[in-house]
Amino acid sequence: AVSLKNCSLSFGEVQVLNNVSLDIYKNEFLSILGPSGCGKSTLLRLMLELLKPSEGGEISYSSDKPSIGMVFQKPVLMPWLSAIQNIELPLGLGEKKKFTKKEAREKAEGALQLVGLQDFKNHFPHQLSGGMQQRIAIARALAADPAVLLMDEPFGALDEFTREKLNFELLRLWESPDTSLSTVVMVTHSIQESVIMSDRIVMMSPRPAGVEAIIPVPLPRPREVGMEEHPAYYQ
Ligand code: ATP
Ligand code: MG
Repeated sequence: AVSLKNCSLSFGEVQVLNNVSLDIYKNEFLSILGPSGCGKSTLLRLMLELLKPSEGGEISYSSDKPSIGMVFQKPVLMPWLSAIQNIELPLGLGEKKKFTKKEAREKAEGALQLVGLQDFKNHFPHQLSGGMQQRIAIARALAADPAVLLMDEPFGALDEFTREKLNFELLRLWESPDTSLSTVVMVTHSIQESVIMSDRIVMMSPRPAGVEAIIPVPLPRPREVGMEEHPAYYQ
């Protein structure tokens, strides 16, 4: 779905990414692990084309450039819009994604339900906790039904129980034939989460970060046993 070739990136004098090459396949769930400050968020920004790699680097998308959803490390919500309005906002934007008001409302309500915040739809961001704001940002990304979802520590601010629940919901959406979602790239600090969720784990080295290793998660994955049966589930 996304392919990075020899991507390096510096901020001024400081080199952050060093020659990263990575092929992300359609239908895979990829986790990215690496020390704080190594360049994981920068790598996602590169994939989103918010940043450009330095000379020689290349980013390409599969021919039918997939619609991309992004959940940033810090939730970026419009403070003057309610929770549900924040989720509806991008549904009205873009050329292809035109929904009627009613459709947008239905999609937004579905997404709110998914993250368990249906009772908070009229709350404004400042009336929500950090973790709730993060869940609104996740709902906003999912409501647009992206084919590729990039997530930057999406569950970092959540308690263990909510986190497990959302992990499960995300896997359900990813596996469901009723959504467009086929490829997920998730930055996480949790080795356990990466093993439970993903097909492959990309380990980044410290800055200037490159790909240290790509580890396939052996079959059967814990999630294929069923989340409830996995010993980590009730920790
Ligand atoms: P964390 O796990 O803490 O989120 P990270 O791996 O996501 O860390 P990045 O946010 O990608 O790390 O930052 C990598 C490095 O790039 C850091 O040293 C940071 O200071 C630097 N950096 C990031 N964005 C900028 C910027 N816009 N200008 C200058 N330096 C930046
Ligand atoms: Mg980061």
